[in-house]
Amino acid sequence: MSERKASHGRQRLAILGSTGSIGGSTLDVVARHPERFEVVTLTAHRRIDRLFEQCLAFHPRLVVVSGPGDAARLEAQLRSAQLRTEVAHGPAALCAAASADDCDTVVAAIVGAAGLPSSLAAARAGKKILLANKEALVMSGMLFMRTVAECGATLLPLDSEHNAIFQCLGDGGGVERLILTASGGPFLTRALDSLDDITPDQACAHPNWVMGRKISVDSATMMNKGLEVIEARWLFDMPAERIEVVIHPQSVIHSMVAYADQSVLAQMGRPDMRTPIAHALAYPERIDSGVAPLDLTRLAHLSFTAPDLVRFPCLRLALEVLRDGCGASVTLNAANEIAVEAFLQEQIRFTEIAMVVEEVLERLPALAEHHQLDDILAADGRARAMAQQIIHDLPAHRVRQVAIH
Ligand code: NAD
Ligand code: MG
Repeated sequence: MSERKASHGRQRLAILGSTGSIGGSTLDVVARHPERFEVVTLTAHRRIDRLFEQCLAFHPRLVVVSGPGDAARLEAQLRSAQLRTEVAHGPAALCAAASADDCDTVVAAIVGAAGLPSSLAAARAGKKILLANKEALVMSGMLFMRTVAECGATLLPLDSEHNAIFQCLGDGGGVERLILTASGGPFLTRALDSLDDITPDQACAHPNWVMGRKISVDSATMMNKGLEVIEARWLFDMPAERIEVVIHPQSVIHSMVAYADQSVLAQMGRPDMRTPIAHALAYPERIDSGVAPLDLTRLAHLSFTAPDLVRFPCLRLALEVLRDGCGASVTLNAANEIAVEAFLQEQIRFTEIAMVVEEVLERLPALAEHHQLDDILAADGRARAMAQQIIHDLPAHRVRQVAIH
């Protein structure tokens, strides 16, 4: 409400996906600056106990969860703790929270396609959006960027590469290329013939970053970098041929911008998401993020190599989708979400993630134009169903089901 703003002058935040890795890092930064930020809304899918702890610490006006049972349980917990936080549930409540008048800034940190409607609702409401939910932009790039422009929203990237590029972009133009760095994940040098045996826990053990399980698997397949090049294409309105990916296993340089005069600007820092989060929260000012200083004298060396598209077929597929105009980006994202979930549930092998995505891309036509949310969600649904069917029909899937039971 306006009186909240008037009485404190603080930035009022809605943090969507507050119980996740990005949500937790955001609250860590926010807690360091109580004079600057006020948490108005928190949302979560299932981790109700974590959400309750966050309510105790931040006293939001509203929380949103997915199901009615969780909402009732959380409401009881809140009342017994004498908290007046309102509880709502379901996708419509999430969109209402993202566009409510009593928040200025929406941190879009839900994972996957589930975050698209609320991220878009924030754009429609003209909010300042701190976007971590890259899948939303991959799915709806043109619609999202048009909505941001038409509705006077402000879009600031939280993804470390895009935040780095944003920091390296000047006002004067002359940008020649964007160079996204990639760590290469945990399997950069693992023997190719052993990739079949990778377990979900191995795939989620990223060498440099601590993240949610879906993005951790995406980093291991490098689909994450593929989604990020598409994200960069829309965020910075950059054609495919001027976006480059380079493997940089140390994750010190988070991305670069090359200019016409061959100056290359890089942003460096520790691999800790609190740096880009603090940057975007305070932009254009700079605030303490809680991250330790980068000690350059302790960096042995920084190395850079071209990505191997045979080792990382998911990156190849994403680059093909980008090259062909992003008409298949909804399909790419949806098939990947289903395949990654099946891998995490030990229904398919690590190497079958790329196979499933490729098969879905081959079977479904790319969308010529998908300017409306309904078209995008329909294409998303078709790709999910197709991916599920392909997984179901995999011979290894059946064998493994038999072996388990
Ligand atoms: P996470 O799995 O740790 O957290 C996801 C959050 O989304 C949780 O709060 C969960 O409750 C919520 N959520 C999940 N499914 C939902 C649903 N169906 N409806 C409503 N809410 C739902 O994920 P994360 O690692 O924090 O990643 C979040 C987003 O940020 C992803 O899009 C990811 O690609 C992006 N990102 C993450 C990192 C990182 O370091 N973790 C870095 C860059 C970008
Ligand atoms: Mg990233």
